Amino acid sequence: MPHSVNLELTRDALSTSTLSHGLKVFGDRWTAQVLLGAFMGVRRFDDWQAQLRIPRHTLADRLKSLVLMDMLRPRLYQERPERYAYHLTAKGMAMYDAVLMVWEWEHRFGDRDVALPTRLTHLRCGHAFMPELACSACGEAASMTDLRFQLLPNPRLPHDTASPLRTPRMTRSDAPGMGLGLRVDRWSLLIVSAVILGCHYFDQLSEVLRIGPSVLTRRLASMVESGLLQCQVDRNDARRRVYRLTAASRGLFGYIVCLSTWASREHFHEPSSIRPFHHACGKDFVPRVACGHCHQPLKPWEVAFDMAKGPQA
Ligand SMILES: [Zn+2]
Ligand SMILES: [Zn+2]
Repeated sequence: MPHSVNLELTRDALSTSTLSHGLKVFGDRWTAQVLLGAFMGVRRFDDWQAQLRIPRHTLADRLKSLVLMDMLRPRLYQERPERYAYHLTAKGMAMYDAVLMVWEWEHRFGDRDVALPTRLTHLRCGHAFMPELACSACGEAASMTDLRFQLLPNPRLPHDTASPLRTPRMTRSDAPGMGLGLRVDRWSLLIVSAVILGCHYFDQLSEVLRIGPSVLTRRLASMVESGLLQCQVDRNDARRRVYRLTAASRGLFGYIVCLSTWASREHFHEPSSIRPFHHACGKDFVPRVACGHCHQPLKPWEVAFDMAKGPQA
């Protein structure tokens, strides 16, 4: 299977994907944290800071960019900007599924010391639950292996993987909080996506993502080290290495597909160049995140978050 990948098509589809572009506007982990806080009912600057332990200037900056992206709207609360109350807009609300997938991934694979809600309760059915990725056409739970992907590069979105985007190196002193963990950045998600699309070899990944050998070597090594990829000797050719997904990187699929769908529908208003289909029902796969207990779709106001520590929202 790896040898049958159409590299040129995969490269064009990845670089014009709403995922790649979406991760540029939304890939920052602090931004995801601020939004998760908003879904938990945090409205004010000081509460975000206390709950998420974000540096003041970083929080001010992310709130500003979320307002510019029309995902949060400030309302005057008192005269000082720190006292504004921020509310989610419809576009911000539409990120709910992706944010739930972040929580689910962090809960299963993330750092144990993050300030994460320990439990979600679905108020409609009354049960604690894990969010579950489902197909909005047929309502059935679906994972990556239930889908196939059609690649249709979108000429209206520019190719963007050619210019190397440097993600700042994260260190422990950055204070881990909510949001995708330290070991997951934009490039890791793009590499995981390329593997999902069938690229398992170094030269394939280098070509479809247009990453130079030295940078790719470093990135793959750190992903193997942090458990996002498995590296094995190729059975057919002992000189080659095969890269495969792990449980942790397969677990990122829910976030990847929800973010890509949000970016397509809410931000760029362009179809994704990577189009999943659901085998079971034969329809386009549009993700929907459901309650793992009663399998009903989730509404933000029907979910309660339990925090182990920190101030009440
Ligand atoms: Zn379906
Ligand atoms: Zn439920």
